[in-house]
Amino acid sequence: MRRKLAAGNWKMNGTSAALGELDKLCTAHPSSPVDILICPPATLLHRAATAVEGSEIAVGGQDCHEATSGAHTGDLSAEMLRDAGASSVILGHSERREDHGEQNDDIRAKARAAMDAGLKAIICVGESLEQREAANTLDIIGGQLSGSIPDQSTGENLIVAYEPIWAIGTGKVPTLEEIGEVHDFIRARLERRFGEGVGRSVRLLYGGSVKPGNATEIFGVSNVDGALVGGASLKADDFSGIIRALENA
Ligand code: PEP
Repeated sequence: MRRKLAAGNWKMNGTSAALGELDKLCTAHPSSPVDILICPPATLLHRAATAVEGSEIAVGGQDCHEATSGAHTGDLSAEMLRDAGASSVILGHSERREDHGEQNDDIRAKARAAMDAGLKAIICVGESLEQREAANTLDIIGGQLSGSIPDQSTGENLIVAYEPIWAIGTGKVPTLEEIGEVHDFIRARLERRFGEGVGRSVRLLYGGSVKPGNATEIFGVSNVDGALVGGASLKADDFSGIIRALENA
């Protein structure tokens, strides 16, 4: 049985005051049958980890460098994230692929570093609108999966998030059939590469304009084990609605 996961990506949002939302979340979910993760900006990571101590909520990073240490101004190693209290790290988000030119090889190297440091790697894949309209979605996702997921992956250290780029922050969501098709495809690819045992144990998240109002139907789709949530994770009330939908799915 895969444990469900509601993961929030705060992106470059939030100063000290945002920690109040985390306190609200801890109060609203003193225990939960699903995993709950918040990935705040790195500046808040340690304080966020302290704020959730003793609760069911975990915190994670939004990126890490592939090296363990060295002359990389402005970057953070996986070990540093772990030391600050992270249990997971988002890698290969489309905004990193776009803003920082990250390629599959970079993401695979970062994922290796994350796993070596004891972090779970949440590897994001997803197609652009042009790629979907050209019927290239599965080819693109297949290339991203084989290029960015390292060989050492297991159900414990890998989570895959399917995030169509055109659905992120736009309010547009693929049909349930489209989500199901991609998630079934990812599952099949993981089983083919890692064998049925590992392939079936990796959690698959959907991400892209998930809100309390559409979460229930998305969580009903086969092979959707939870969500990676951007905008709606910034407010505890909205994210709570998504967590509750997942708990009842
Ligand atoms: C994201 O950026 O990972 C995301 C899914 O954003 P949003 O929920 O705002 O579409």
